[in-house]
Amino acid sequence: MFVDIAKIHLKAGDGGNGAVSFHREKYVAAGGPDGGDGGRGGDIVFVADTNLSTLADFRYKRKYVAENGQNGGASRCTGKSAKNLVISVPVGTLIKDAETGRIIADISSSEPTVVAKGGNGGWGNMHFSTSTRQFPRFSKPGMSGEELDVTLELKLLADVGLIGFPNVGKSTLVSVVSEAKPKIANYHFTTLTPVLGVVNMGDGSSFVMADIPGLIEGAGDGVGLGHEFLRHVERCRLLLHVIDVSGSEGRDPIEDFNAINRELGVFSQELTDRPQIVVGNKCDLADEQTVEDLKKYFNSEGYEFFPIMAPISEGTAELINFVAAELAKLPAIKIFEPEPAPEQPIVDTNKRTFTARVENGVYVIDNAEWLLKILETVDPDDYESLQYFQRTLQQSGIIKALIDLGVQDGDIVNVYDIEFEYVS
Ligand code: GDP
Ligand code: MG
Repeated sequence: MFVDIAKIHLKAGDGGNGAVSFHREKYVAAGGPDGGDGGRGGDIVFVADTNLSTLADFRYKRKYVAENGQNGGASRCTGKSAKNLVISVPVGTLIKDAETGRIIADISSSEPTVVAKGGNGGWGNMHFSTSTRQFPRFSKPGMSGEELDVTLELKLLADVGLIGFPNVGKSTLVSVVSEAKPKIANYHFTTLTPVLGVVNMGDGSSFVMADIPGLIEGAGDGVGLGHEFLRHVERCRLLLHVIDVSGSEGRDPIEDFNAINRELGVFSQELTDRPQIVVGNKCDLADEQTVEDLKKYFNSEGYEFFPIMAPISEGTAELINFVAAELAKLPAIKIFEPEPAPEQPIVDTNKRTFTARVENGVYVIDNAEWLLKILETVDPDDYESLQYFQRTLQQSGIIKALIDLGVQDGDIVNVYDIEFEYVS
């Protein structure tokens, strides 16, 4: 069975905890804090694998958990960061947030993409010593890794997509113009999975053609084929609309053509604007006049029309040459841009409440839950990060409050047990 959609759960690794430890050495009475930081939790990374063609693997394994970072150790030992968890998917897999449908990534290039970020390690107590507090007995826990449900959705990458009713000769056409050998038979729904064929033009250039299972209106009859396969023509730059000119199954080729285009429109209005070339197959079963009339009709509707007999490759060279020339004029295959993540709710400056007081010579900031959140993300080894923290203190009025309380350079400021020296 062809699986082209799957829902899985991702959990990136948590950061390791920072350590509380003090330097110990023979003959040295009391050493300073030397608890190291925790290691980073592993990311969950997606890569495209050209050997994969379906998402079948994801039906059996639905939970993907990256390892946690190691805790920090004594002697300034930073915990080991965890390895990333790498998940291989077929080329052209879209990753969406299962809850909101937001496109997170389009795995269509060889570039690995991080979809769930591991948590940063917590700081060891070595970061928390100040001139007046030389023995910080606390460290910070690691941050949690991101956790989310995602939907994987395969959208094949092909330049040209074949569309048309079942049995009109789409698979036969692909088999004679490319190396692909899809199943061909005189019954409906022989093709149950999309097949990609590379069409070599002989001059070193080539393009990819996708044979898509046939569509019929309603697509009922239990086989369940229909709209879902249109997903695979969504990226195609050009559509070849194959019709049976002989009406050999008692159908009218023009009605067929219109019915398929209606189905396209139901699936996606954008698809109806995709350039289409009409391919009149089974010319051997129709009289010349019928073929000529169909050509006139489609031309008058603004479509190029190519009469062919697919099994004997009659007319296919002209068709392929025309397709290659058209492709040269069309934009590249569509790659979906990631949609921006919803903005984190910005803390309203008015709501940045806090209280400041002096307690045993230490300036204590309290009742500021919002600041605690920011503190958790500050990296003490990163200048930018510290600057950001400084700005936050400025903008929220905390600095002013401290000055009003008479703070001097070198005084200790305590925010939820994290202490630092005031520097004006
Ligand atoms: P698909 O369902 O559109 O992929 O159609 P297939 O390629 O599987 O072809 C359906 C049937 O039509 C097969 O039995 C083919 O051999 C036959 N067929 C395909 N093209 C032609 C053609 O040009 N002339 C005739 N007489 N039969 C054809
Ligand atoms: Mg077929």
